[in-house]
Amino acid sequence: MSEGEGQRETRAEVALSGLPGSPGVALGKAAVLNLGRTGVVHRHVQASEVPEEIERFKRGVAKSAAELRELSAKAHKSATKIEISVLEAYTLMVEDELLLADVTRRVETELVCAEWALDLAVTEMAATLRRSNDAYLAERSHDFEFVGARIRQAIGGGPADVVVDTSEPRILVAHDLSPAETVGLTRDKVLALVTEVGTRTSHTAIVARALEIPAVVGVAGALSRIGNGDSLIVDGLRGQLLLHPRPETTAEYQTRAARFRDIQRLRREARDRPSKLGSGELIELRANIEIPSEALAALSHGARGIGLYRTEFLYVDRTEPPTEEEQYDTYRRVAEIMNPLSVTLRTFDIGGDKFVSVFQMPSEMNPALGLRAVRLGLARPEIFMTQLRAMIRATAHGKLRIMLPMIASLGELFAVKELYEQALADVDRRGLPRAEHISLGIMVEVPSAAVLAHEFAEHAEFMSIGTNDLVQYTLAVDRSTPELAYLASYFDPAILRLIQNVIAAGKDKNRPVLLCGAMASDPMAALLLVGMGLREMSMEAAAVPEVREVLANVTLEQVERAAADALVERTAAGVTAALTRHFGRLLSEG
Ligand code: PEP
Ligand code: MG
Repeated sequence: MSEGEGQRETRAEVALSGLPGSPGVALGKAAVLNLGRTGVVHRHVQASEVPEEIERFKRGVAKSAAELRELSAKAHKSATKIEISVLEAYTLMVEDELLLADVTRRVETELVCAEWALDLAVTEMAATLRRSNDAYLAERSHDFEFVGARIRQAIGGGPADVVVDTSEPRILVAHDLSPAETVGLTRDKVLALVTEVGTRTSHTAIVARALEIPAVVGVAGALSRIGNGDSLIVDGLRGQLLLHPRPETTAEYQTRAARFRDIQRLRREARDRPSKLGSGELIELRANIEIPSEALAALSHGARGIGLYRTEFLYVDRTEPPTEEEQYDTYRRVAEIMNPLSVTLRTFDIGGDKFVSVFQMPSEMNPALGLRAVRLGLARPEIFMTQLRAMIRATAHGKLRIMLPMIASLGELFAVKELYEQALADVDRRGLPRAEHISLGIMVEVPSAAVLAHEFAEHAEFMSIGTNDLVQYTLAVDRSTPELAYLASYFDPAILRLIQNVIAAGKDKNRPVLLCGAMASDPMAALLLVGMGLREMSMEAAAVPEVREVLANVTLEQVERAAADALVERTAAGVTAALTRHFGRLLSEG
């Protein structure tokens, strides 16, 4: 205990507000962690010093990656799967080739020292993420800052580990906390977490939720008000803190804390169970991801694997395509994070609305109908084969399968399979390990593939229905035109008829069928799809808990009856009305 502990007990109760980070109520004494972030050295360098600065940066990267791996190994004993995964994602960020390229360019062109170049690179990356409209991505800016601070410490040779040693469980109060700093801080050591920065999607909050520790984040000025040993109450549900609580307040919160612990126990039991209908049938809910660190969100939301990894995001914002090694490393990490759950890697879907400068594509009248996805892969086989080889090699490290987007004809599938066979042979010739059998499937998102689903099922080991594009191409509605959104309904009978055909083909040919478009994340649509026979869906991670809950509240008979009623309707509005008749009450009560 530090000097002065306990002297504040007679002070008046103070309420401090933040944001709810992780639900739960905790009462206890504060342990204040003041990390005292090191200042950034700003030093101009001579051209002759450039190579040494770049080397210093690389040494820093290697050192921090080694430290994070060591922490991650330690964490295997004491931390949760998600905490380990966060550390692994950080290692991935530390070793990011883009970061190395960016820092190198800054050192060379701006003649600044490694620390300064790193700070500039990280600040710019964090600002870009913050500007995005996506709260999850915006929150990743803290991760970049953390990773930057870690490398900076490694360059300067300073201590990187923060060890919190408290003999009794405490409420940890800090400016910010990263998983590297919380490794080993299990529930028996930490009662709650409080940080000055962060939001619901920051890693402090994600990890706290995974550890089931209450957390309040974004409490401005917490460090200036809370001292070591101060009595605190943390209300993670409301995002509130009570400093120096009165005895009556303490008594009231003790009751609430006990009540919450009971609720939490019941919830934990529910999340760890596979997703099932009320009548017991298993429905696999998986997550769609675009960047590797989203795998963490998938886990924390209880998704059973990744049903769609949109790998095209690896090609964005760069002039050269990612190398085989870089891709292999990335896919491998995702596979390892998710293991033993499965991950479906989709080969790049570039073109259409997903423009990437690496390919220097010609401008087209109708990009959505142009050189996109596997069509581009076939036009640029060297880039496509590099990706296929990386994916094949990554299968040695987890449960991976490979999926081809935008397949429109069988001839096209055969052409891609030829390249795939060559990529397999390349990997084998180099003596590199891979899974003995790799499942190769297709996305069914072009109407022709849905129409010929039975024929495709003979040549694709699984089929994943991409309703975002299936709607666009079937109803001839550009998916990026908001004025036409009224036409673009996945409840349109034409879409449902195509989906029915794919599900039937899967059944007849004994091939797994899943659906990974936005339709799966709409609870009413999910109920319909299960009623139509679908047993596997992939959606944005945040939608998983709600869909799981809705499914648990219906029986197979109910959803089948609703689907039968919906499928005789002739318009999207009619389908919606039929589903509302069956499920309106259930969904509005939820
Ligand atoms: C789809 O088209 O439904 C799909 C899941 O793929 P994307 O949204 O990446 O085109
Ligand atoms: Mg698509």
